[in-house]
Amino acid sequence: MVFKSWRSICTSWDEGGFDIRELLSWNKALVAKWLWILIHKKTGLWFAWTQAYHFPTMVFWDLMSKDRHSESLKSIITVKNEILQRTGSQIAAHQLLSSWIIHGKFKIDMAYNWFRTAQAFLPWARALKHQFILPNHSLVTSLAIQQQLATVDNLIGRGMIIPNRCILCKNSMENHSHLFFSCPFSHAVWTALLQWLGLDGRGSDCKTELLWSMQRSKRRHWKNGWYTSSIAAACYYIWAERNARLFTGKEAEVEQLVFVIKSTVSTRILGKISPIHYAHMASQLSRL
Ligand SMILES: [Zn+2]
Repeated sequence: MVFKSWRSICTSWDEGGFDIRELLSWNKALVAKWLWILIHKKTGLWFAWTQAYHFPTMVFWDLMSKDRHSESLKSIITVKNEILQRTGSQIAAHQLLSSWIIHGKFKIDMAYNWFRTAQAFLPWARALKHQFILPNHSLVTSLAIQQQLATVDNLIGRGMIIPNRCILCKNSMENHSHLFFSCPFSHAVWTALLQWLGLDGRGSDCKTELLWSMQRSKRRHWKNGWYTSSIAAACYYIWAERNARLFTGKEAEVEQLVFVIKSTVSTRILGKISPIHYAHMASQLSRL
C-alpha cells in the first residue's frame, strides 16, 4: 500500500515519483503539436484547409471557440487559451512554443513537462538510480524517505483503529524514523553494514545518508554505488522483515538479515562491473 497522491506518483523518478505519465497533461502536449502546426509550421493540407475555413483573416492566437468548430479544433483552442493565460501574452506564448522545437521537430516531452508543471529534482532520488541498486530496493527506499509506506502511524493517521507497536523490537511505536533507524533491531543491522562498508559513527536517517553518500566520493566511483546500494537494500529488507513478521509470523535474526543484504548487494555489484575490476571488488566486498 502506498500513500502518495496520484499527482505525485505522476512525476518523474528524479522528482520522487514513479515515472508514470499523467494522461491529461500528455494529451495537452499532443494537442500542442497541432497548435504548433497552425502557428509556426503553417504547411500541409490540414493547415491550409483549417486556416481558409476558420481563421482566414486573423492569427490563430485570436480565434475563439465556436459551436460549429469540430471537437479536435476546440481542443486546440482550449490548449492555446491555457498557454496564453499562463504565459500572459502572445509574444511569451510564441516563445514558449518555439522553445519546444528542437532541430525543426516538436518535442512532446518538453510540452508535457510544461503542462504538468515539472517539480524540482531530488538529489537522493537521482542517487537511487545507480546501476548497483535493484529497482525494488529503490522503490521501497524512495517511499521510506518520503514517509509514504503503510506504517502503523500512517494507517492510524488515515483513520484506522489499530494498536501501534513496532513488531521488530516489540517495544516502541512504529513510524518511519523508528522502523528504519532508531529501532534497536534496525540499528544493529546498520551497525553491521557500516562495519562492512568500513565506516562508523553514522546512521542518522535515510535521506541524509543518501545525500552524504553522493557527496563523499566521485559520482561514478564504485564505492559510492556500494554504499548507496547497501542503504537501499537495508531499507528494503528491514521493510520486508517487518512485513514477514506481521503477516506470516516468521522472524529472522539480525545476522540473517545482514547476510542477505551483503549477499544481494555483492551479487548485484559483481554482476555489473567489468572483468578488469572483478578481483579487486570481490576482495573488498567479501571482507568481514
Ligand atoms: Zn522497533
